[in-house]
Amino acid sequence: MPLIAPWTTAYGSDDSIHSVLVRIDSAGLCGWGESCPLQFPSYSPEWAAGVFMILRDVLAPLVLGKTVSSGQDLQALLSCVKGNPFAKAALDLAWWDHCAQSRSQPLWKLINGRSDTIEVGADFGVMDNLDLLLKGIAAATQQGFKRIKLKFRPGWDVEMVAVVRRSFPDLVFHIDCNGAYSLQDARMFEELDQYGLAMIEQPLAHDDLIDHAQLQRRIKTPICLDESITSPDNARKAIEIGACRWINLKPGRAGGITRVLEIHDLCQSAGVPCWIGSMLESSLGMSFCLALATLPNIKYPSDVFPSRRFYRKDLARPSLELFGPGRMKLSPANGVGTQPDPDELAHLTVESAVFTA
Ligand SMILES: [Mg+2]
Repeated sequence: MPLIAPWTTAYGSDDSIHSVLVRIDSAGLCGWGESCPLQFPSYSPEWAAGVFMILRDVLAPLVLGKTVSSGQDLQALLSCVKGNPFAKAALDLAWWDHCAQSRSQPLWKLINGRSDTIEVGADFGVMDNLDLLLKGIAAATQQGFKRIKLKFRPGWDVEMVAVVRRSFPDLVFHIDCNGAYSLQDARMFEELDQYGLAMIEQPLAHDDLIDHAQLQRRIKTPICLDESITSPDNARKAIEIGACRWINLKPGRAGGITRVLEIHDLCQSAGVPCWIGSMLESSLGMSFCLALATLPNIKYPSDVFPSRRFYRKDLARPSLELFGPGRMKLSPANGVGTQPDPDELAHLTVESAVFTA
């Protein structure tokens, strides 16, 4: 799906989004899932074409024709494959959509969500200049967004944060470094403490926990882990060693709804608050993020965006809209409540595979 404007972060610039969609047909119902790992392995080691191949050649044959009564059942069938959470998530999401439909429930109710409205934030990538950023933040605060997230990378860093704080003394905002730094930059993160950031998201390497624990001991600002949390097991380890005080949950990165629920629950028990991230999915993938944002331990506005923020035309329908300032409303429809528009899907599909039990 082409983006309205390129999205620039510490790992590079994307002008389109590459998703892998899975449709599961069973018992007269069809469930849809979407995994959006980007075109290149720049956010994580996975990438869209690789996700498609492992789903086609390995994962789909493992589940075809099997009876799956729970998310854990599904994950057990996939457990012979190491890693590859984005690929597993595509199947897991489709299963949860199907499961919620088969129980005649909206997905957010099936997972014990607590409310049909959620708070969402406004995000800004690396921009051409500070004036553009300040205008964007002013517009977002006027629209009622309660928090702002700013991408942060070498060259768009401390000075940018200082200018934003001077211009908006009371703004709740945080930065996302997308793993661009190392412990050698600890002094810069200490300097950032004076700006009252809500958190610093993924300052160090995408697969690190230990250095994050060391950095967290040196700074007052809470660290939030995103890229590093790829499973319930490393979420547990991150909490045990004090690598973070927040965890960002994304269904793709964690291996699906099943895994996000496990991480959510263990964070809740440990007193570590969470919020929901996204990968610029279509409204189909975003709707799973929306459902997860209703969980009780979600304590910060989530990265779920109205379709028009990034897309002229959304692949899926209904498209997502704001429901009041900085809020979105969950669909009362059974399942995830969103599915691809057949014409858009045909137009945008580059490769597909069909399996029959
Ligand atoms: Mg992030």
